[in-house]
Amino acid sequence: MPTKTESKRVRSAEMFQRACAVMVGGVSSPVRAFRAVGGKPVFVDRAEGAYVYDVDGNQYVDLVGSWGPAIVGHAHPEVVRAVNEAAAKGLSFGACCPAETQLAETIVESLPSLECLRFVNSGTEATMSAIRLARGATGRSKILKFVGCYHGHVDALLVAAGSGAATFGIPDSAGVPEDFARLTLLAPFNDLGAVEKLMAEHGPDVAAILVEPVAGNMGFVPPVEGFLEGLRAQCDQHGSLLIFDEVMTGFRTAWGGYQNICKIRPDLTCLGKVIGGGMPVAAYGGSKSLMAQVSPLGPVYQAGTLSGNPLGMAAGIATLEICQEKGFYEALDRSAKTLAHGFCEVASEAGVPIQTGFCGGMFGFSFIDRPVRNFDDAQACDHALYARFFTAMLDRGVWLPPSGYEAMFVSSAHDETAIQRTIEVAADSFRSVAS
Ligand SMILES: *Cc1c(COP(=O)(O)O)cnc(C)c1O
Repeated sequence: MPTKTESKRVRSAEMFQRACAVMVGGVSSPVRAFRAVGGKPVFVDRAEGAYVYDVDGNQYVDLVGSWGPAIVGHAHPEVVRAVNEAAAKGLSFGACCPAETQLAETIVESLPSLECLRFVNSGTEATMSAIRLARGATGRSKILKFVGCYHGHVDALLVAAGSGAATFGIPDSAGVPEDFARLTLLAPFNDLGAVEKLMAEHGPDVAAILVEPVAGNMGFVPPVEGFLEGLRAQCDQHGSLLIFDEVMTGFRTAWGGYQNICKIRPDLTCLGKVIGGGMPVAAYGGSKSLMAQVSPLGPVYQAGTLSGNPLGMAAGIATLEICQEKGFYEALDRSAKTLAHGFCEVASEAGVPIQTGFCGGMFGFSFIDRPVRNFDDAQACDHALYARFFTAMLDRGVWLPPSGYEAMFVSSAHDETAIQRTIEVAADSFRSVAS
């Protein structure tokens, strides 16, 4: 039996069938296929402010925000105008343009650890290039990452923890050679002891420790006190570089990024999502001396035909201009807090165990009765319940990420009306899934 709005999503269903004939799984990125939550993907016609509209004309409060970029809401008039003006002057030149320098200046001014950057087109490219730079600059080959942290689909980062006492990674995707995965060490997130042990053994071979300073790809998992400080100390002790993957947290948790909250200076920072305001823009950067290792100044090769293209730069500049308005992040923080507390309250009323958290315009909730500190905890959450809750919310007009392993996002366009509607819908949805 189709659910309430599944029957209202006739055109989406038709379009998915058509897409499946010519596109792998009908999608351009796997999580969009709704496999983790069941049901059929919703095809979007347009989005405006805090809302997304599907091809059948249904409206949803959007808590995905294109997975982070939509921090000023969808189709913000100033961002759209900036992109239109840039488009009229040409879509891509494959040559230098003034907008690149302007966006780079804004980013460099916002992050004390970052003096110089290179624009790329996706978060994946940013982390891949940062790792290459770390390896090139240190002459070492190993990388230490954390289980459950996602850094894009880079070969060396698509690794899972080996079984038992194994300290090196095993491929987490077909097509990743074991020889690549072996160069990646894994530790549980928030477990400094495990890091110290690995570094004691492999430190001289470790080019970099790579971490999401707030993990947002296994739900919302903040760092425990001392964890990030400990990583900085381990890197200093062993001559490894510390890379903050702020593709999600950059300009999302705070102006600049989470490093401005925790006051830790990584050697390299990866950015993406918000800095492109919805266009394919990402970047990596660090000190001038380190970045001087990258071509054309240094021996580490990295390039891109569409990198720094004028449309992406225009969207990024316009988005960050809005983010710089006074009280912008405080307002986001209040919205995320209201939502996190709201979800907590209505879940508890329905007798559903829940953990919530938030930081700037990023928040999350998990169905479990104890704090989530790492991937094991994230896996222990009730994901079957999340799938039912997701569907109940979607049918009532609230769009959550189609997997329980994701953080959620609010924008400056999420006003009182959108937020209160979300909480009311959540109350109704919790009653329906808990009964
Ligand atoms: C989204 C994300 C990436 C990958 O970015 P893409 O643009 O999807 O390649 C990398 N790291 C983190 C932390 C992310 O959230």
